[in-house]
Amino acid sequence: MVKKIAITGGKGGTGKSTIATALALELAKRYKVLLIDADIDCPNDHLILNIKREKVKDIFQPVPRLNKQKCRKCGNCAKVCREKAIVFVKGEHPVFIPEQCIGCSACMIACPFGAIEKGKKKIGTIYKGKNYNVNFFSAETEIGLEEESPVVNALKQHIKNIEKDYDYILFDTSPGAHCNVISALQGCDLAFSVTEPTPLGQHDLELSLKLLKKLKIPSQIILNKSDVGDKNLIKKIAKSYNSKIISEIPYRKSILKQYSEGKPIKDKAIKQIVRKLKK
Ligand code: SF4
Ligand code: SF4
Repeated sequence: MVKKIAITGGKGGTGKSTIATALALELAKRYKVLLIDADIDCPNDHLILNIKREKVKDIFQPVPRLNKQKCRKCGNCAKVCREKAIVFVKGEHPVFIPEQCIGCSACMIACPFGAIEKGKKKIGTIYKGKNYNVNFFSAETEIGLEEESPVVNALKQHIKNIEKDYDYILFDTSPGAHCNVISALQGCDLAFSVTEPTPLGQHDLELSLKLLKKLKIPSQIILNKSDVGDKNLIKKIAKSYNSKIISEIPYRKSILKQYSEGKPIKDKAIKQIVRKLKK
């Protein structure tokens, strides 16, 4: 049965993508692996894996389109819009603010005169690729999109039918604990939270573990650059969230060299994580 693992973390720049791609590569030596780059603001796993992405399709969201002939200027639509994406001034037609609209359709339903029709706007693009025996999908959001989880949901929906063909599916999420991260995490069997032994790393790890606890997803910690700060900061948080540090990856010159050359890292710490996964 397919095992879904998220590689996540509260803070950007901790090495999440480096570790996600390295794990994918190591697992792909023996298993069928699908890597999903769900860091939709800044997907970069394909760069590390030297994958030339191929566009699969654009992602669209329903958006309201006003039919002025039918509109009676009642203002109901503006009242139901929780995103404040409709400006209504008495006696005037409502004005829609596309950047604020999340496509929930509430205004279309609420209009008693059928004056709001369904249009669509592009919110992202899905890509695919393959290298090192790792099958790969990613999505990229349009710049300035208010609500990004529909992009991640569309990506997950797209791979639904092929999930069963894999032993492992890895989700490299965006950093943080906002909606698109939650969308990526949902349905995962395990999450690796990647962090560093610094006060900032400790703070952001706590956010990540808090979210995983809420979603009832078992968490394990990968401590990157483990020898550059105070490990006790991380140990304390791990204990309070009943999580454990599964791997400590030191600040090794060999890792830095592979990273700076834009190559996927190969390291004994990654092999150890994979070995532990198989137990
Ligand atoms: S679709 Fe939803 S968010 Fe967009 S304008 Fe209508 S009510 Fe507001
Ligand atoms: S609810 Fe319909 S009729 Fe009323 S202002 Fe909005 S679009 Fe016009």
